[in-house]
Formats: sequence, C-alpha cells, structure tokens
Amino acid sequence: MEFEIIDFHTHPFLSPLTNICNHPETFKMDTDYTIELMRSLGVSRICGSVAFVGEYGNCWWDKIKHNNEEALKLHEIYGDFYIPGFHVHPDYVRESMEEIERMHAMGIDLIGELVPYLDGWGSFTNKNFYEILSLAEEYEMTLSLHSGEVPEQGMLAEAFPRLKVVSAHPGEYHDFMRHVEWMQRCENFYLDISGYGVFRHGMLRTGIDKCGVERFVFGSDYPTCNPAMYIGAVTLDPSITDAERELILSENAKRILGI
Ligand SMILES: [Zn+2]
Repeated sequence: MEFEIIDFHTHPFLSPLTNICNHPETFKMDTDYTIELMRSLGVSRICGSVAFVGEYGNCWWDKIKHNNEEALKLHEIYGDFYIPGFHVHPDYVRESMEEIERMHAMGIDLIGELVPYLDGWGSFTNKNFYEILSLAEEYEMTLSLHSGEVPEQGMLAEAFPRLKVVSAHPGEYHDFMRHVEWMQRCENFYLDISGYGVFRHGMLRTGIDKCGVERFVFGSDYPTCNPAMYIGAVTLDPSITDAERELILSENAKRILGI
C-alpha cells in the first residue's frame, strides 16, 4: 500500500482487564502485540477509547475515569501511533464537561467510541448527553458512537452540526440503508465499517454512490474484531478505486480528526 492506513476505531489495552478480545489466549497480547499486528497490516496509526466489560470501582464514573486514564497512559507508550478517544457519561454532566475541557487542553478531541451498554447507560437522545455535547460542539470534536438506533444517531448529528458524528458498524441491510439516508441528510454524519463490516456484496459501493466516499472510514473494532477483514474489504473489492481506497483507509479519518 502506498498510502498510510489509519484504524479509526480500536480499543487498545494495557492489561487483560481491558483486552476485549474474545480469544485472548490465541496470542501473547500485550502493548507490543498491538503495534506489531497493526504494522504487519500496514496500519500506522490507531484511534479510539479503552473499553472493558464489567464494573469497576464504586460507580460508573470510576470506570470512565479508569478507562480515560489508561488511554492517556497508552498514549504515553505509543506516542503518535495512538490517537486517544475518551469517555463521557450522561449521568455525570459536570464531570463529563470537565473531562472535555481537560482532554481538549491536551489536544485530544475524539470522544469514544462510546459503548453505553458497557457503561450503564442507554439512549443517545438523552437530555444530559445533549448538554455534554453542546460543549463538545464548541470545540468541534469528533464523536464515535457504538451502533444503536440509527435515527437517534442521525438526530444527534442533526442537532449538533459542528460535531463530527461517526457511527460504528454498518449492520444488516435495513440498518445500513438507514445510515445511508441519514448520511444523505446530515453532512456531519459518517460511518465506520467495523463490526460485521461491509460484508454484503455491493454494500460499500452502494454507500459511496449514494453518499460520497468522504463519509466512510476504516475502523476495525480491534481487538474484538480482526482488522484484516476490513482492510481486505476496501483493498480487494474491484468496484472500489485506488483513490477511494486511500480516502476510506486514511484521508477521511485525517480530515475528520483534523490531523
Ligand atoms: Zn468498538
């Protein structure tokens, strides 16, 4: 590959607690493993939040802080290889807004991926969440969201036009087509191709033809998912041009993140 590849959606980890791979015994999975695997696939940068399954500390905010601190530690270890994403939580409005200020002051403007079901909350169309996002919008941050109800995410993108809202996981046909509708409606609504990916033949080409190639980014959801699958879906699909491959694999992420 003659161009850089950026994985927009990962969950890097420091310890087995935050390694959300379903098959961790398969490899010697440590911080070096992540960088070696990604480089072997031509990926030179990864983005995203630290996540883990289960509870931590005395309240959900303890877990949010733990994950955010671990992201900062990983950033120290990885340097430019890793663009950290941080968590906020609608039950903790003041704390979340302080976290936005703290992260922005460090040059970190990526929120998420947020995975509400892991952290004890639900809907994205939540008054508290909207209040938090009003500050994120002032800084024109990027918001990476786990797939939920597509209309909720589209409504959110519409309500905050200066936020860049990147939905994860295209899903099955009907979900994907709803993503397409909302991307046609909101210029600040994007889709990363992680999860089941663009596994239906012609899916990615259809999305590009209907919304424009600028709206799709490569994300893998590593270590839950296998990054090779999504790189192959872009590089080996004969209906996708080289220029489109470069946009999906790196240029769109760079533009969205302002890097
Ligand atoms: Zn994820």
